[in-house]
Amino acid sequence: MKADNLMYDVAIVGLGPAGSTLARLLDSSLKVAAIDRKRLDGASGGFQKPCGGLLAPNAQKALVESGLNLPSSLLVDPQIFAVKTMDLVSGQIRYYQRYYLNIDRHRFDLWLASLIKPGVKIFDQAECRTIVPNRNAGGYDLTFVKGGRLWTITARQVIGADGSSSLVRRAFCPTPIRRYLCLQETFPGHLREPYGCFFDPRITDCYGWINNKEGQLILGAALPLEKQSAEKPRERFEAVKEALRPFGYRFYGAPLGATEAALVSRPASWRQIALGVEGGIFLVGEAAGLVSPSSLEGISYALASASLLSRILNRDPAKPQKLYRRAIRPLRWRILMRLLKSPFMFQPSLRRLVMLSGWLSLSDVSLSGLD
Ligand SMILES: Cc1cc2nc3c(=O)[nH]c(=O)nc-3n(C[C@H](O)[C@H](O)[C@H](O)COP(=O)(O)OP(=O)(O)OC[C@H]3O[C@@H](n4cnc5c(N)ncnc54)[C@H](O)[C@@H]3O)c2cc1C
Repeated sequence: MKADNLMYDVAIVGLGPAGSTLARLLDSSLKVAAIDRKRLDGASGGFQKPCGGLLAPNAQKALVESGLNLPSSLLVDPQIFAVKTMDLVSGQIRYYQRYYLNIDRHRFDLWLASLIKPGVKIFDQAECRTIVPNRNAGGYDLTFVKGGRLWTITARQVIGADGSSSLVRRAFCPTPIRRYLCLQETFPGHLREPYGCFFDPRITDCYGWINNKEGQLILGAALPLEKQSAEKPRERFEAVKEALRPFGYRFYGAPLGATEAALVSRPASWRQIALGVEGGIFLVGEAAGLVSPSSLEGISYALASASLLSRILNRDPAKPQKLYRRAIRPLRWRILMRLLKSPFMFQPSLRRLVMLSGWLSLSDVSLSGLD
């Protein structure tokens, strides 16, 4: 069934940080529709993105550049000034100073969506199913399920802001990208420790994390997808808990709530970044593969890519895809830098050398002074 008889200029699939930022920054002269599976009225229930909820300095910068300050109501206790880095095989521990903001990720998403101008037509609690060219209309038909019914809208340009499992990317630019399965569990309790990240090649060639949020302890790990046929991710995740015991971490009993699971993109090269195709298809944020391969930090890339694309679409130039590719170059370079840094974090022998040297680490951390 047709949701309306409009021909939208832009249809955005996904209202995470990338989609909401784009929807907010697009000119009000453009007819814009957005589809997201989340519940955006603030009521409980519905889809929530599993995430570490840390805003890195680049994300803070991207927020400022897109004209926003962060309301303190989105911050959660405690704030983070250091990362405890652990090599679970060698037993090495180092502390590094970092400036992350610890936030409630779902509240952050709802806040960004609340800033979208009233002129944008939002279909929330809606799952986009198909996007097919409509040559007669000179655009695309997007079909989605909402309230148990199938709806269609038509748009001249489609933006894939739909994250790591992007339907838009799969349909129009199926460049493969390396992805990991992230599992996260929440436990009662609080640690007199800063945010922790750990490395263990027996479990993953990426990393895992331990964080405090509002008196609860969050344990997460990014597990390689290709190894899972041999070993189940659940077993690997349980192995994480065992491997952390000698470091003083105890995860007793059942977690609070279900285990959260989500895919995260981790580009292995520049080629895995896909920005769209000529003819009105664009990808932003994680759908494009714009995620740090070293830290899995993706919010800054989501905000920045959406902001860059909005400036191009607002001008309606003749070759928007070409301009977008050019505009995104600094983000590509940033990813290249992270790719070059990765061996020093993820190759066990290089990591041990770096940790042994103490380079850039805090030398005198008194745990009794941390709370
Ligand atoms: C466990 C985990 C921890 C992470 N921790 C951090 C962190 O601490 N800091 C950080 O910067 N990054 C972190 N990341 C990465 C970060 O979450 C993403 O890179 C970032 O959210 C990307 O934003 P986005 O808007 O591009 O996509 P997303 O935030 O994934 O948003 C995509 C949106 O699209 C919607 N959607 C998807 N498909 C459809 C569909 N078919 N129909 C309708 N709606 C759809 C979803 O509902 C969602 O709202 C983490 C990722 C994971 C998995």
